[in-house]
Amino acid sequence: MAPKQDYVKKMELKKLRRVEAGIVSDRYPGISNIVIHMTYFHEAENPVLMERTINVFPTSIADFKMECMIRGCDSGGFDLTPVISKLIKQNKKIAKGDMNCRGKIGDYSSHHAKISYEISIKYNNKHSK
Ligand SMILES: [Zn+2]
Repeated sequence: MAPKQDYVKKMELKKLRRVEAGIVSDRYPGISNIVIHMTYFHEAENPVLMERTINVFPTSIADFKMECMIRGCDSGGFDLTPVISKLIKQNKKIAKGDMNCRGKIGDYSSHHAKISYEISIKYNNKHSK
């Protein structure tokens, strides 16, 4: 497939995934906001690639799959959805951890990229225990 078509297909899939995900207030009622802070690492001498903070509101799309920042990594990425779902289920406010990208790029190892994340969730008072 030509690179452009490939890109279009990828974007369409992404759009579909976002529609299926719905919005935060539908999927996780009782959340007032979620802050996701991520540090991206790659395999290099200076491993910190970038830092990123994402604010999630009740009106945001409930899609917490983050793209892998390494060019050429196709089916990779970091899916924080299970982490966030678990946190909310347990009514917890903070989680920290690391996640490796599972995508593969040619000869690169599966350890080509990872993130460390810090998630903090604010609940609406009426829903907190
Ligand atoms: Zn990757």
